[in-house]
Amino acid sequence: MKLFYDLHLHSCLSPCGDEDMTPANLTAMCALAGLNVVALTDHNTTGNCAAFCKAAERNGLLALPGMELCTREEVHVICLFPSLLSAERFGAYVSRRLSPIPNNPDLFGRQIYMDDMDGILGEESRLLAGCADISVDHVCALVSSFGGLAYPAHIDRPSFSLIATLGFWNPDLGFPLAELSRHCPPGFLHRPDLHGLRFITGSDAHYLDQVADAAHWMEPPDRTPAAVLHWLSKPVQTS
Ligand SMILES: [Zn+2]
Ligand SMILES: [Zn+2]
Repeated sequence: MKLFYDLHLHSCLSPCGDEDMTPANLTAMCALAGLNVVALTDHNTTGNCAAFCKAAERNGLLALPGMELCTREEVHVICLFPSLLSAERFGAYVSRRLSPIPNNPDLFGRQIYMDDMDGILGEESRLLAGCADISVDHVCALVSSFGGLAYPAHIDRPSFSLIATLGFWNPDLGFPLAELSRHCPPGFLHRPDLHGLRFITGSDAHYLDQVADAAHWMEPPDRTPAAVLHWLSKPVQTS
């Protein structure tokens, strides 16, 4: 089953996410772009995942609830979950480990909770863009204990990436794959420490016009979140 994916998307709950990135708008744009599997990965929160999943279903998309966690070391990690319940439990865990810095909407943008029909449910007052007090050393096991899967985001970028922060790919961290940005520099993948590693590409869209046309696909055994996570966690068999 060939499914086009984008598993790195931000809604208007992310401080840097445009206010037009409502769950309804975002999923409609993903459907227009020809995507089949999508994940919401707001910074350090799963607060708009329920609305996103509902709106995605209405638009014929398979949705995974997720989060882009910022670890203590300032490494961005994509965390994906097989169910809303598991994602929201992880969201509550992260929320308790987030610094209590208030958001400054004029500086960072508003952080808006939405329903699936463009209704505003409220605003988050704490800044969601900071670090959670969770080490990158423990993220894999931690997310797995909530039933999810974790892998580092945009490792080719010079900031908030595992390679930029730690300096090299450390297989002992247990990540089964890594995400590349859409603008991965030529030659980056020739790094010897990345040899044999699996990659996926995410758009990291914060604005509607950054939702990319369908280009990257996966072949999970079924059209379910669990099957997508299974595909991401297992090496692709090549014959
Ligand atoms: Zn990021
Ligand atoms: Zn992101």
